[in-house]
Amino acid sequence: GAAVASLGELLVEFVCTEKDGHNRRATAYVGPFPSGAPGIFIDQAARVGARAIFAGAVGSDAFGTVLTDRLGAVGVSDALIRVVDGVPTGSAFVAYNSDGSRDFVFNIAHSAAARLPGAGEAIAAFIAHGTGVFHISGSSLGDAAMRETALAVARGLAEAGVAISFDPNIRKELLGDPGYFAAVAALTALSTYVLPSEEDAAVLFPGEAFEAYADRLIAAGAESVVLKRGAAGCLGRDRAGATVERPAHRVEVVDPTGAGDCFCATYVGLRTLGLPFAASVARANAAGALAVGRLGPMEGNSDRPALERLLEPGS
Ligand code: ATP
Repeated sequence: GAAVASLGELLVEFVCTEKDGHNRRATAYVGPFPSGAPGIFIDQAARVGARAIFAGAVGSDAFGTVLTDRLGAVGVSDALIRVVDGVPTGSAFVAYNSDGSRDFVFNIAHSAAARLPGAGEAIAAFIAHGTGVFHISGSSLGDAAMRETALAVARGLAEAGVAISFDPNIRKELLGDPGYFAAVAALTALSTYVLPSEEDAAVLFPGEAFEAYADRLIAAGAESVVLKRGAAGCLGRDRAGATVERPAHRVEVVDPTGAGDCFCATYVGLRTLGLPFAASVARANAAGALAVGRLGPMEGNSDRPALERLLEPGS
């Protein structure tokens, strides 16, 4: 079948085991876990059975190996994963706060994470690999160089008939940068699959009801729009005009990081494998629930049988 492709920052992540830890100068962190939103995405796309290829970069150090080993283990093609000398592998530190918010410290711009292959090289290799869908996470649009590459690849692939998938994953602190917002708007308009969270929808479609903006995006060329609603589950709408609503599976929340990426990858991976719209939404919703139940950004990713076990018959 067709392959799923993505690009962006590959990071190792350290998770603080104490609440409000960054502020308290805590010493208790666990990791390195393989991470980076697009890395979580491509790992999960491969786990649900899609052929997968990723464009990114790691340093020639032990943290880089954490990432290449993991993506290799699930069968992601490394044809476009560069190992760069002289700069460290990208990293991220996350702490969970008592008020439920998260604090991230990212090391992307001055690490290998931002040294992606060129757009021309990526487009050619993705097409040669038989890419049917190309996914972008908004987290890859903060770095200016990565943003340019992501946009050029998305435009080039769209022109070649490849479907584009977009998770806006809006970072509020970047909204003052006009280049950032323009990229988010351009990718939303270009996409076949638009996969916002509630927070994204509040920024992109303020005050608008789900059906209204979903139908507008579909009239402009999208195939479907699926809204991620955290502990409230999800809402989806496709060209056929029916709204599919799924309540969240009841799980204990251990680590919410990565649930959104895992959701998107399951949806996109299964659509690419030919599953119908509603069945793909149901499995994405199950994948998101499993993701929040495990410590570590992609440690809660799951394969197809694990998703099927969570679903009621006939889903
Ligand atoms: P991320 O933290 O990765 O950026 P996001 O904001 O993009 O996530 P969410 O809406 O938080 O996405 O989560 C994605 C999906 O994961 C939800 O639509 C839901 O299916 C599932 N999910 C998230 N939180 C929970 C929860 N507490 N219980 C059950 N399922 C959940």
